Amino acid sequence: MSRTYRDEAVVLRTHDLGEADRILTLLTREHGQVRAVAKGVRRTSSRFGARLEPFGVVDVQIHLGRSLDIVTQVDTLAPHGRELMADYSLFTTATAIVETAARLTEEEDSSQQYLLLTGALAALARRRHAPTLVLDSYILRALAVAGWAPSFSECALCGNGGPLRAFSAPMGGAVCGDCRPPGSAAPTPETFELLGALLAGDWALADTSHERSRKESSGLVAVFLQWHLERQLRSLRHVDRDFAYDVARPAPPGTYVPTGAAAAHSAQAREIVA
Ligand SMILES: [Zn+2]
Repeated sequence: MSRTYRDEAVVLRTHDLGEADRILTLLTREHGQVRAVAKGVRRTSSRFGARLEPFGVVDVQIHLGRSLDIVTQVDTLAPHGRELMADYSLFTTATAIVETAARLTEEEDSSQQYLLLTGALAALARRRHAPTLVLDSYILRALAVAGWAPSFSECALCGNGGPLRAFSAPMGGAVCGDCRPPGSAAPTPETFELLGALLAGDWALADTSHERSRKESSGLVAVFLQWHLERQLRSLRHVDRDFAYDVARPAPPGTYVPTGAAAAHSAQAREIVA
């Protein structure tokens, strides 16, 4: 097997290492989430330091190292970093987007997640739509790709077409009056319309939505995301134990991170357990 590969990637996070190096967390198109060190990039003489800014889309060559993989070549595909870091509102939105991507792609590789992320950063950098709309649309679609598509046009529980009275993250989105759990939020019909438009990418509707619906949508999207991220952590703990038991071998020491076939198995099991 070759010790070097090339791939497209988005820079999710960077951490300084030693005097001049930087550790990068990348979401690659074909190799999932990758951590690699870029040597000497903080020196002013560095050939590719500026290309490895957060939010940047790059073509990278990575060498599989003994402890850490090493970035050996970088070409810029889309220099979003500069635009997104120059504007505070774009910067905070882009940060929320890459942090969501980092969490949702920790366990599973998906080129769809990569394409969704690059699309969202490009829309943000080109100021196509209000930053909060781009963020909320990205989160809803990234959750859908992860297998957690919310329902906004019919009751998530009984499938009834309406009227939709409430929103419940544990039930999977909008719910009718009969299925509504006590204490659930009761958004306006316009908010459900906007949420549906953000999930479907209906920008004509989203761009003309009212401020009140946008605020209400953002709150519900944040709750929905938080609920799934917490559930993901909980169910992973169960799945890892079940998987180790399944194949009749002792659980590996420390944190068990499934890879390859084990990850596929774990993903299936996670759907069943969740
Ligand atoms: Zn119902």
